[in-house]
Amino acid sequence: MEKKFFKDLVLAPSPSGFEQPAQEVYRNYVKGLADEVKTDVHGNVIALKKGTGKLRLMVVGHADEIGLMIHYIDENGFLRFKPVGGVDPSLLPGLRVNLYHNGKVVRGVIGRKPIHLLEPDERTKAPKLEDLWIDIGAKDKKTAEKKVSIGDIVTFSPGMEMLSSDFVTTKATDNKAGVYVAGAVLKELAAEKVVPNVYAVSSVQEEIGLRGAITSAFGIDPHIGIAIDVTHATDYPGLNKALLGECSLGKGPAIVVGANINPKVFQLLKKAAEKAKIEYQVEAAPRGTGTDANAIQTTRSGVAAGLVSIPNRYMHTPNEIISFKDLDGAVKIIVEFIRMIDDKTDFIPKV
Ligand SMILES: [Zn+2]
Repeated sequence: MEKKFFKDLVLAPSPSGFEQPAQEVYRNYVKGLADEVKTDVHGNVIALKKGTGKLRLMVVGHADEIGLMIHYIDENGFLRFKPVGGVDPSLLPGLRVNLYHNGKVVRGVIGRKPIHLLEPDERTKAPKLEDLWIDIGAKDKKTAEKKVSIGDIVTFSPGMEMLSSDFVTTKATDNKAGVYVAGAVLKELAAEKVVPNVYAVSSVQEEIGLRGAITSAFGIDPHIGIAIDVTHATDYPGLNKALLGECSLGKGPAIVVGANINPKVFQLLKKAAEKAKIEYQVEAAPRGTGTDANAIQTTRSGVAAGLVSIPNRYMHTPNEIISFKDLDGAVKIIVEFIRMIDDKTDFIPKV
């Protein structure tokens, strides 16, 4: 486990559209491991390890995280914001947050009326985003404007802690976990010759519509595309396994099966896991998934897509939890998968 690489990724601020601090971490990590590293005009970072064969294989994790964006500063210096991606307003009151202004960090607090002052019906309802504000300690609009501007982005407080020897908590494991795996696959293969040309991609803007996967997959024109993203663990209180299926932290990454996944890719990923002796889970996804795999599969005339999911507790909250063992497992499975394919591997679905 390359703990420092993971930590640098999760701590880098990267709400959708503003990913470059995380992309810089990725570029620095892969530059010695790839034959070429380029950043496209959309902001995707594409690291190519050339193979001896012709197939192009894309491995991708999205670098963007959810966050907030300042859109209004009131007369008293309080900041109003819009969500970047899927933000749950009930989690926000009371948080300390980081605002990023011209490369500087400004600290703030998300305010809400205290319980004593809430009307009886307000006490039982979750707040709406428009009921909340960020307080940066400015005495009025003018003072606030010296520290922040409209369009500045905001992230949950960065920080990473081990809760056990294996479980880590931090913001944005969704989906720095996937970026980590893309980079770590290159590291693992560094001393090897491989047949497929491996494009290890850190994509942008997944949280707002898989947008970086659309552009990067079009540019790479891959034959095979494996996305790595987080999935909901269902091993904590209040989740109905009859409805959501079973997925636990620490029991290995989940290999996804369903319409979004090429059947041969699914079979080979399972075989790769067995060969590498990595514990894995299977996740059923009967339709298009909400991941980069969805955009990749429907690129041009179709791509053989696969999806490896890292179980994640409390997705899109300031403190998500994943298992490092699951992360390592995902790297090993994908590395073994890459070793198993060559130009003759046939991905056309048939009986
Ligand atoms: Zn997400």
